[in-house]
Amino acid sequence: MRTSIATVSLSGSLTEKLTAASRAGFDGVEIFENDLLASPLTPEEIRARCADLGLTIDLYQPMRDIEAVPEDEFARNLRRARHKFELMDRLGADTVLVCSSVSPLAVDDDALAAEQLGRLADLAQDFGIRVAYEALAWGRHVSTYDHAWHIVETAGHPALGTCLDSFHILSRGSDPKAIEDIPGEKIFFLQLADAPLLAMDVLQWSRHYRCFPGQGGFDVAGLVRSVLHTGYDGPLSLEIFNDVFRQAEAGPTAVDARRSLLVLQETVGIAAPPASVAPTGIAFAELVTPDAEPLSAVLGALGFARTARHRSKPVDLWQQGEARLLVNTGTAVRRDGTGLAAIGLESPDPGAAARRAEALLAPVLPRRRAPEDAQLDAVLAPDGTELFFCATDRPELPNWRADFENLAQAPAPGHAARIDHLALTQPWHHFDEAALFHRSVLGLHAQESVDVADPYGLLRSRAVTTDDGSVRIALTVGAAPTDDTVHAQHIALATDDVVAAARRFAEAGGRLLPIPANYYDDLAARYEFADGELETYRELGILYDRDAHGEFRHCYTPTIGRVFFELVQRDGGYRGYGAQNAPVRLAAQHAARRLTGG
Ligand code: MG
Ligand code: MG
Repeated sequence: MRTSIATVSLSGSLTEKLTAASRAGFDGVEIFENDLLASPLTPEEIRARCADLGLTIDLYQPMRDIEAVPEDEFARNLRRARHKFELMDRLGADTVLVCSSVSPLAVDDDALAAEQLGRLADLAQDFGIRVAYEALAWGRHVSTYDHAWHIVETAGHPALGTCLDSFHILSRGSDPKAIEDIPGEKIFFLQLADAPLLAMDVLQWSRHYRCFPGQGGFDVAGLVRSVLHTGYDGPLSLEIFNDVFRQAEAGPTAVDARRSLLVLQETVGIAAPPASVAPTGIAFAELVTPDAEPLSAVLGALGFARTARHRSKPVDLWQQGEARLLVNTGTAVRRDGTGLAAIGLESPDPGAAARRAEALLAPVLPRRRAPEDAQLDAVLAPDGTELFFCATDRPELPNWRADFENLAQAPAPGHAARIDHLALTQPWHHFDEAALFHRSVLGLHAQESVDVADPYGLLRSRAVTTDDGSVRIALTVGAAPTDDTVHAQHIALATDDVVAAARRFAEAGGRLLPIPANYYDDLAARYEFADGELETYRELGILYDRDAHGEFRHCYTPTIGRVFFELVQRDGGYRGYGAQNAPVRLAAQHAARRLTGG
């Protein structure tokens, strides 16, 4: 099906919006009136620009406060409409959106509304234009889609149809099933938006919190199924009012937008991108650093051994158990120093995983390897992390491990068994995109988003995981654009004895993040511990949490550049990440940073 996007959904000038929509692969646009009014281009120039970019103008919008008004007022409305139809003629747009009136002059009279909309359609027809009547969720007398359809049906005019908007329908809790009773040819347009489930005024909700399908809490796919059932063959068009998108760059937002429609089309069965291939584990995490010394000291104290070196690049493999870390001192070093730059995801079919990622518009990474190196499939996540699809030690497939030459050094007896989870700081503008990306492109499941208090702000965190927990990634974001660089990424290592692992780290010269005594006094009040247990945690800086399934014990290393390590012990099927303890951890990290002047 054709895809379209309203210009209001993207930031920038009209030209920037059109360019971004075209580059992301949209077929058409809805021109939002304010974007046209603010543009220096004439309607003819906008028409030509769209044609050059391969975009059709699928809708001109909005026309407001037209119907069910006194005759003299309606005469003025028709005059206004004639001007807009002349403009649309110059633009080459053949469908106009009329939203249900919010005017205090409008009366509650369906017959009058139908009669006046019919006369508007008469005028539109002279210009070859169709009128799509939409119920605003906050319309004065018409606020539901079935009511708007009833008026359109009563008018019985060939140039008058209805526009369905998933936000207006689902925000009111209307059942979209009755859409199936509308003849498909009378649905002139379909606008799609999702939104997080919030208890707030519907107008404010719509103007500030709409998001792309799959990024909120509405069953947009269910609604689309009902619309497709009618035989509707117009475009799937996104109309998103969102405070964050207004500030984000139009290019990436447009790609995020089109990905959401690709996923939606797959969900409703009208598109079939290459099937999802869920990862089965974390093959490696790659750290880049300008100075390997501080990082090597921490890794050594954690029990990692430097076991191999890349044949052609300054990259070392550090390993213990199934936890593998690559330390890269050779790539262009990030301005902010040491950080997590790449993740190797163990995949049952790396090639298929990469084909799906590419079909869902993930940037494919150019191969920058020596000719003899393994040809790995890799794409870029929205936060810039490189994702490699790996087949470790499967002889029939390119093996990243074969690029490394073993060192003589024997692995030290560490306590970490594998990587438990990775926490990645997301760019502020792309948090919702990141969750949809990891879900749709990588085949992970997104869990609920949680808010975490930081002494100087608020963090949002959302985990994306495989069913069995073999891959767990916590996506985190600050509450404001400036928070991007404040919060560090982390690598959590699974151990079955966090006390022993913490002691080993301390004995090897590592210093765990100190946790305030008040925290332990509170733990003593909340839980009963065996004799001496709490004292051990207090001494080492181990934090404790419990859920319906089990227990969680964890502690933290100091931060190096933008990254720190966590040792975690999960018992009895604990599913969380210690979010309860995160405010204490964040405060302790701020305090440690002040002490070191970092
Ligand atoms: Mg709308
Ligand atoms: Mg963690």
